[in-house]
Amino acid sequence: MAQIIDGKAIAADVRREVAADVAALSSAHGLVPGLAVVIVGSRKDSQTYVNMKRKACAEVGICSIDVDLPEDISETALVAEVHRLNADPAVHGILVQLPLPKHINEEKILSEISIEKDVDGFHPLNIGKLAMKGREPLFVPCTPKGCMELLSRSGVTVKGKRAVVVGRSNIVGLPVSLLLLKADATVSVVHSRTPDPESIVREADIVIAAAGQAMMVCMQLCRQILTVRCSILQPVQRCSLSPSMCSFLARQIKGDWIKPGAAVIDVGTNSVDDPTRKSGYRLVGDVDFAAASKVAGYLTPVPGGVGPMTVAMLLKNTVDGAKRGIVE
Ligand code: NAP
Repeated sequence: MAQIIDGKAIAADVRREVAADVAALSSAHGLVPGLAVVIVGSRKDSQTYVNMKRKACAEVGICSIDVDLPEDISETALVAEVHRLNADPAVHGILVQLPLPKHINEEKILSEISIEKDVDGFHPLNIGKLAMKGREPLFVPCTPKGCMELLSRSGVTVKGKRAVVVGRSNIVGLPVSLLLLKADATVSVVHSRTPDPESIVREADIVIAAAGQAMMVCMQLCRQILTVRCSILQPVQRCSLSPSMCSFLARQIKGDWIKPGAAVIDVGTNSVDDPTRKSGYRLVGDVDFAAASKVAGYLTPVPGGVGPMTVAMLLKNTVDGAKRGIVE
C-alpha cells in the first residue's frame, strides 16, 4: 500500500517554520512582512480564496494589506494600484487574485508586478529564469513549489528519476515540469493532444497529475464519439451510458497506469456530484485514489494533499521576499 502523503500536516510544519521566521525578522530587524492581496470585483470563489489567504497571513504574523477594488475599475487604474504597491516599502509581496474581469488584460497586470514582489511567481521574468539553466527565479509559483516540497519532505529522491507531468498550464503543469528538470529528473509532459498517455505515465517514477479532469480519457471519448459526458461528472441516472459501458470508458489515471512504487502527486481538484453529501458534491483528484494506493509508493489525497501546500508556499514566498530586502 502507498504511503499517503499528508499535505495538511506538512503544510502545518511549513506554517510553523514561517511563523518562526516572521518572529525572528521582527525581533532582529523590527520588520513585519507584508502581503498585498488584491481582489477586483466580488466573485464568490475569488473572495473565498482571498479570505483564506488573508486569514493564513494573520495566523503566522504576516501583515495582510487588503486591496479590494470595484469590478468596473479600469485597466489603467489597476496598473496604477500595482505601481503604488510596488513602491510601498511595507509591501514585500503582491498577489493579484485571478481571474480578473474580462475588460482587464491579466498578462499586462501580472507583468506590471515588480519581480521582487511577485510572490505568485507568474511574472514572465521569473518563469523565464525558472526555465533557464544556471538562473534562479526570485519566486517560484506556489502550487508547483508545494508539489516539490511534498516530494522532498516525504523523502522522495527526484534526481535521476523519470517524471511525468500531466498538464502544461502556466500556473501548474509547465512550472512543475521546469522544477523537476532543475532537480535533475528526466521529464515528460502529457497534455490533451498526447496520444496514448497511459504508456507515458507507466514509465514514471514520479507522476504529477494536473489536468483538472476527473475522468480524463472518458471525457475525451465521450466528447469525440458519444457526445455525452461521463457518469462522474453527471450522475449515472442522467447519463445515457449503461454503468458497465461507463466504467469501461471511465478511465482517470488508474492504478494500472502507475508504475509500482511510483510517487504520485495529485494536483487535480474536481467537484463531482455526490447526493450522499449535504453539500451535494465532493472533491476528487485526477487519479483513481483507491486503485493507485494499491500500486504507488507515495500518494497525495484530494482534498488534503497539494491544496494546503499552495497557501503555505505563498506565506513562505512572502517571508523570503521580506528577508531578501534586508540590507545587513
Ligand atoms: P488548466 O489551465 O485547465 O490546464 C489543464 C492542463 O491539463 C492543460 O495543459 C491541458 O492540456 C491538460 N489536459 C486537459 N485534459 C487532458 C486530458 N484529457 N489528458 C491530458 N491532459 C489534459 O488547469 P490548471 O489551472 O493547470 O489546474 C489543473 C488542476 O489543478 C485543476 O483541477 C485545478 O483545480 C487544480 N489546481 C489545484 C491547485 C491546488 O492548490 N490544489 C492549484 C491550482 C490548480 P492542453 O494544454 O492541451 O489544453
